[in-house]
Amino acid sequence: MFPVGGVSIRSMRIIRQVRQTSFFWTGITASGLAVLGLTLLSCGTATTAAPAPDAAAAGPGAPQRTQARTAADALTAYADQLVAAEKQRLAAAKSWGLARAPLRPPAPPAEKPELTAEPGHIGGEGLPPVITRVPTDDKVVFLTIDDGAHKDPKLLEMLRELDIPVSAFLSDYVARDDYDYFRAARDDGWGIHNHTVNHRELPALSAAGQKKEICAQQDTLEEEMGERPTLFRPPYGAYDRDTLRAAASCGVEVVPLWAEEAFPDRIEWGREDEKLHPGDIILTHFRGEKEWKGTMPDMIRRVVNTATAQGFAIARLEDYL
Ligand SMILES: [Zn+2]
Repeated sequence: MFPVGGVSIRSMRIIRQVRQTSFFWTGITASGLAVLGLTLLSCGTATTAAPAPDAAAAGPGAPQRTQARTAADALTAYADQLVAAEKQRLAAAKSWGLARAPLRPPAPPAEKPELTAEPGHIGGEGLPPVITRVPTDDKVVFLTIDDGAHKDPKLLEMLRELDIPVSAFLSDYVARDDYDYFRAARDDGWGIHNHTVNHRELPALSAAGQKKEICAQQDTLEEEMGERPTLFRPPYGAYDRDTLRAAASCGVEVVPLWAEEAFPDRIEWGREDEKLHPGDIILTHFRGEKEWKGTMPDMIRRVVNTATAQGFAIARLEDYL
């Protein structure tokens, strides 16, 4: 039968073509085929509603053939787009000095994982869970960048070109001189979250003082970014029960700490095996060459090369939490 056989043989050729240009395929299959499904569906609807004049004249089998051709053309066009996008990403990886192109994350989970406070952390009814990794079997890790002092335009450029998702945890006292930078980041798809107003060690403050540090920053970020954050990270990872109560009272749903910390010249590992594990949250900071040995792009290179070498993709934290 032409419609089925014709489309599927052509699909296989296209799929092989995409595979040859891409280091990683799972991200494309899931999201790509969803889009493709919609494309095919809409082609089918259009053909049924208004068959082309030559098809109508050619007899009862013709509309199906037209439909199959339209579907095959849509598939080809879509595959061409994927091939072009992958080529662009490979070129970007090369120009940013990566060892290999970053791996593509799989499609986000249909249902977000159920979270509870990790062992050794404070938890309880109505308190946002404190975690250092996301419970998942996907070979993904998450990159989070704290504070907001050093606002390097190269960082935005690099992440945009490589299509790598990150989440920022902003402290107002260093971020406030240029929220435009973070609005640009948000427009690129970054998640923007809460890291308090003044970066104080929270357990040293009264419950009311903690609430002010956390909730005033919720309000500021909502005003500056147009959306109220759902994630909050306490400075230095220091918190107590009052911290979690205060955070819960102003809309915080999860408190992500971290499993590893990244620098331009090294990774500080959270475990003895010195390896990434599925769902690990990686911490780093907005810093410049004065503060550490390298630039923000050097740090990203370190993280991406490490993740790629260990078979991990960097995924979007907000897709899982
Ligand atoms: Zn911090």
